[in-house]
Amino acid sequence: MKKIYPLELIRSLLLFIGENPEREGLKKTPERVIRSYERLFSGYKKDPRDLLTVFDGENYDEMIVAKNIEFYSTCEHHMLPFFGEAHIGYIPLKKIIGLSKLPRMVDIYARRMQNQERLTSQIAQSLQKLLNPRGVGVVLEARHFCIMCRGVEKQRSQFITSSLLGSFKNDMNTRSEFLKLIGK
Ligand code: ZN
Repeated sequence: MKKIYPLELIRSLLLFIGENPEREGLKKTPERVIRSYERLFSGYKKDPRDLLTVFDGENYDEMIVAKNIEFYSTCEHHMLPFFGEAHIGYIPLKKIIGLSKLPRMVDIYARRMQNQERLTSQIAQSLQKLLNPRGVGVVLEARHFCIMCRGVEKQRSQFITSSLLGSFKNDMNTRSEFLKLIGK
């Protein structure tokens, strides 16, 4: 594979858009961009299995919901941010996870090149695999920079995606309880 020089790439990008990479305000920009990329795309180096401490659910069999989990991701079509809130619910069978781990789980998949649909189903599938619960529901609401500042320029449109597995898919009551708890 061809060797990549990240700082050079960003400098070329600045030239491409008609800028002067040598001017004062831009001199350190390539370094800053690379550093911010390390954070924005840190999800590739993380595995949800390392994150999640799974507990014995002690027969708790009601729905567990974490809502309004902020996330920031990057649209793989335009390399522009999309961001919003994730709502996650599941009904445990035997295993539960620490509630604080759910936002980190969202981050692992959000901090990659993504589209909203895949991000939604990866979170759901991953929980399904780790916990083998009775059911899982994931709803994502997001705004996309590629829609807000280019293309159709509809600043306020929001996109909602959902992934429902197990009882969240098959049982109407479970589904509507989840939607009610997340305020939908
Ligand atoms: Zn896009």
